[in-house]
Amino acid sequence: MVSEPKYRRVLLKLSGEALMGPKDFGLDSETVDRITDEIIAVHEMGVQVSLVIGAGNIFRGVSQAAESIERTSADYIGMLATVMNALAVQSMLESKGVETRVQSAIPMATVCEPYIRRRAVRHMERGRLVIFAGGTGNPFFTTDTAAALRAVETGCDGLLKGTQVDGVYSADPKIVADAERYDSLSYQDVISRDLKVMDTSAIALARENDLPILVFSIHTPGAFAQIVNGGGKYTIIQ
Ligand code: UDP
Repeated sequence: MVSEPKYRRVLLKLSGEALMGPKDFGLDSETVDRITDEIIAVHEMGVQVSLVIGAGNIFRGVSQAAESIERTSADYIGMLATVMNALAVQSMLESKGVETRVQSAIPMATVCEPYIRRRAVRHMERGRLVIFAGGTGNPFFTTDTAAALRAVETGCDGLLKGTQVDGVYSADPKIVADAERYDSLSYQDVISRDLKVMDTSAIALARENDLPILVFSIHTPGAFAQIVNGGGKYTIIQ
């Protein structure tokens, strides 16, 4: 008997940094190639997959590059940059035969679809992978919050956050050698201990809607598929 995946509809949040590979900026095609293979492995299991991709590899509203730009404009630039990443990942996925749609929170009729919740769900039901771009469409938010929002709106049974490390730690394990790794945390733990995993608005939204967040390393081959099947290494926030 073939076992059923544990999760039927998931949203994968990737930071822009995840697409950068060894580079300092932008996209690394080898890395995008590898990550899209990981995504396709889950899609081929019959799991409905959607993506939210950040833009830290291109532009962040709060950064040195944005110093002289008024905050809301800087945030709009960041949101537009997420559309660039979405189109790049869409292109790579489609070249591998996966049907996809990009939906942007900021309507951009000649580039991609606008975000329409019911339409996004329909795409997923038809086996299309949906990439939500443009963040929430609002300044002062992040793509983490966009990921939690879209996951709740579209009825995902898990929000998976693919990061540079294999879970949530008490401090950055790349800097603090004896940082403690957690297998499981409550939403409240993350907020009260100020753990740098997702911003508070994303955690609060997940908590209010009982959306589990699973944090794992996007660089561990097969990790995304293992987790969707109920195994693998991750920190669960629930
Ligand atoms: N952004 C925004 N509203 C949103 C999502 C993103 O203003 O709903 C802007 C913000 O300036 C942010 C940038 O887009 O710095 C890139 O997103 P994020 O920092 O979340 O990217 P990541 O860190 O995941 O690569």
